[in-house]
Order: sequence, then structure tokens, then C-alpha cells
Amino acid sequence: MMRRHSDSCMRAISRIYSYLDGEVRAVRRVRIRLHLRLCRGCERAYEFEQRLLGFVRERVRVDAPPEVLERIRRSVRERTGR
Ligand SMILES: [Zn+2]
Repeated sequence: MMRRHSDSCMRAISRIYSYLDGEVRAVRRVRIRLHLRLCRGCERAYEFEQRLLGFVRERVRVDAPPEVLERIRRSVRERTGR
């Protein structure tokens, strides 16, 4: 049912991180929003990352190293089955 991510999907997903960090400029934001609206897979990925970031920010006061974030991401993904 869920189609494979295309190259544009992968680009959108990789930009979601900086988008969430507020580092993406207005033009890019619009493009990402547009893609999220058109693509269910990326929309879900975005919602997932949004929840994950909220989860991490609630519990991690200091900046966690990337490998720690990756570990959390993986464990949450396993739990939610996505
Ligand atoms: Zn996509």
C-alpha cells in the first residue's frame, strides 16, 4: 500500500530535520509543506519526527549527541512499527 520513497522523498525527509530546527528559509518551508501535503509517506515521517523531537526535548535538557538521538529514533520506530 505504501509506495517506496522516491529521490524527492528522500530529499524532503532529510530537510525535515532542519525544517523542524527552524533553519530552513521561507521558500524551502513552502516547498516542504507542499511535498508533505502531496505525499502521505513523508507526511507520516514528518509527524513522526515532530513527535520524536518533542519527546526528546521534554526529556533531554542538554543537546544529545547524534548517536543518542539515532538510538532513541530507532527504538521509537520499533515500538510504533514504522
Ligand atoms: Zn514524499
